[in-house]
Parts: sequence; C-alpha cells; structure tokens
Amino acid sequence: MNTHDYILREEQYGAHNYHPLPVVLDRGQGPFVWDVEGKRYFDFLSAYSAVNQGHCHPQIIKALTDQAPKLTLTSRAFFSSALGEYEEYITRYFKYDKVLPMNSGAEADETALKLCRKWAYKKKGIAENQAKIIACDGNFHGRTISIISMSTDPDAKNDYGPFTPGYIIIPYNDLGALETALADPNVAGFLVEPIQGEAGVYVPDEGYLKKAWELCKKNNVLFIADEVQTGLARTGKLLACDHEDVRPDILILGKALSGGVMPISAVLADNDIMLTIKPGEHGSTFGGNPLASKVAIAALEVIKNENLAANAERLGQIFRKEMLSIQSDMIELVRGKGLLNAVVIKPKNGKEAWDVCLAMKERGVIAKPTHTHIIRFAPPLVITEEQVMEAAALIREAFSEFE
Ligand code: PLP
Repeated sequence: MNTHDYILREEQYGAHNYHPLPVVLDRGQGPFVWDVEGKRYFDFLSAYSAVNQGHCHPQIIKALTDQAPKLTLTSRAFFSSALGEYEEYITRYFKYDKVLPMNSGAEADETALKLCRKWAYKKKGIAENQAKIIACDGNFHGRTISIISMSTDPDAKNDYGPFTPGYIIIPYNDLGALETALADPNVAGFLVEPIQGEAGVYVPDEGYLKKAWELCKKNNVLFIADEVQTGLARTGKLLACDHEDVRPDILILGKALSGGVMPISAVLADNDIMLTIKPGEHGSTFGGNPLASKVAIAALEVIKNENLAANAERLGQIFRKEMLSIQSDMIELVRGKGLLNAVVIKPKNGKEAWDVCLAMKERGVIAKPTHTHIIRFAPPLVITEEQVMEAAALIREAFSEFE
C-alpha cells in the first residue's frame, strides 16, 4: 500500500470530521516522523503539543512497557499500587493539595467546570442552579456539548444545540470586560487559556493573567487555567501562568502529561475546592489507571530532567527570529511564546496557509493551518538548535515558492 491507498481507506471507513494534510505517518522518534514511504519530516505540530517530550521517548515508553504486563486497569472501585504514587508525585510537582485524574483534555475541562459549580454551591453560597462561569471569545476547551456551549466558533458549535446554560462570554485579553462580568454575584469561575492555542496562538498582553487573577481573588471567583495546550514547558515555563507568577485555583492539564503515549489529563486544586466533590459524584473508568499513572510520572520526569522549558524558551526566540527574517509578503505576523508560535498568512494569488503547509510538507516539515490563515508551529521540545535552524531553512524555501 502507498500513501494514496492509506488515505483512501481512511476516507472510506472513517468519519470525515478531520481534514488532514496528505501525509501518512508510520513511525516517530524525537522531533521526527516518517511516512509510509520512508520519508522523514520535522513534526512541527507535535499532536497539538501532546508530544512535547518527542515521539516515543524511551523513558516514557519504558514506563509503559514495564507496567503494561503487570496491571493496566483496576477502575476506581479498588485502590492500586500505582495511583497513590502518581498522585503524590504530581501534586508535589505542581504544589497543589489534590489531583483528580481523567483522560482527555475535554474531560478535564468538564471536571473543572463541575468542580467550580460544586464549589459555588457548597462554599460560595450561590443559589441552586444559578452559578455562572466566565469564558472568553475564541476559546477552545474541547468538543463535549457543555464545552462547545461556550464556544464562539461556528464550526465547533453549529447544529449541536440545545446548549448548556450558565456561561458568560467576554472578549479575550479584555480586563474591563472581565471586571464588568465579575460584578455578577452568581459568577463562580473564570476559565481561561493563558495563550489561546487553537484560536491561532493569541498571546494576551503582559500582565493580563496577573490582573485577571487579582480581579478573581477580589470577587471570590475561581481562576481556572486551561493549560492543556500551553502547559508542561511548551511556552518556555513549566506552566504558561508561571510567566506572570499566577497560581490558578484550578489547573487543567492534558496532552503532554503522557508525552503523547495515551490520553491522560488531570485537574489540580487545593482541598477547600477539591474536597467539595464527594465519593460517587464524579469519576471515570479509565481515569488514574495504573498504566497512565506510571506513564504520567515518566512524562513529568522527562520535562524536568531534560530542561524542556528552558529549551523551549531559548529555541522559541531563535525560531521567531528566523521566521521574521523570511522575505515573503505572505507573512503578515509572527507571534508566540516559547515553542508555541504562529505565522499569520496573507493569501496571495489564491494561495493560502494550506498551500504553504503543502509546500513545507514537500520539503520535510509538517504543520497545519488553524482557522485557514494561521500556521501554528509547535515542534517537540526536545528539538535542538541545529534542527530548528534546519527546519527554518526548509520553511524559508517553502515560502520562496510563492514569490
Ligand atoms: N483545552 C485546550 C486548551 C486544548 O487546546 C484542547 C485540545 O486542543 C483541549 C482542551 C481538548 O483536549 P482533548 O482533545 O484531549 O479533549
């Protein structure tokens, strides 16, 4: 079978809810992936930042293969020898009292929403069913009905109603709007991405997160950070909130919490919030399973041991400088933090971001447009300076095709 055959098979038997670049990947190592014809690519998407530690990191794979033959799943009906170790490890790592383990990012976001509402009724004293949560225009928190109920993206939302009530949507990076919304005494939480990844890597003004956090504190409202994409060293710090010394009341993690090996997500909070959920009031069959517990510990160890945050910070600056030096009138803007970056594309002669991605693919760099005119560049954080320079040269060549 060749590339074409693989694509046809997926198209025939799979739902058409994605529009992938025409490349069929077969294996990966570090910052590289290889297609079924053996061609090598720099992976500049990293599965939307799930593969921060690089593809098939040996230490993470070892944790997986050591645990897999021993015990994979107990459900939470019983204790396991691995879960407590993971819970202790992750709560110390991020300095929270408690963790609630889940699987996908969307589930962790749902968990955070439920936790916030529970806290609103049990602790803040909001009347039954009156709690509201503030979210931002352009947000992306996943695909469940309750999450898309706060989406402002028609593609994510259209024809999926009726929607879950209880959200107030305000513009992103707008402290005035936040202050106004917080005046409502039924507001329980403010859910925010420290950088809006899916929207196109929108970096808020410096000081926004800190001030937003202060406003939440002042109004007894929980500051809930969705760091599913921005967390775990991607933006040059362990958490993107660390850039402004903000400690979220509820922290949501996913993606790279497993280094891309399996779906692992988590919600972290202190006792006064987390213990408002009692036995039987929330859960997941797979959440906190022994296999995931061991994998997550290894994934977190790699982030610290290999100084991935520092690498992302340093190489991010080099990458942005390289992108800014490309002479192309298709490049409207370069923005980002650490190794979460975007190039905003100005269409030219009918050619768009998609065409640039195809040209990059031909040269051995894969990335994907988000919202038609923005290309997100997010390589695994184990990439070296030499590799960043090599990939940047290939991207430069791809742009030159349109001059
Ligand atoms: N939150 C953010 C900020 C994300 O970027 C994503 C996925 O891109 C999610 C939540 C949803 O994660 P998942 O696709 O694992 O459900």
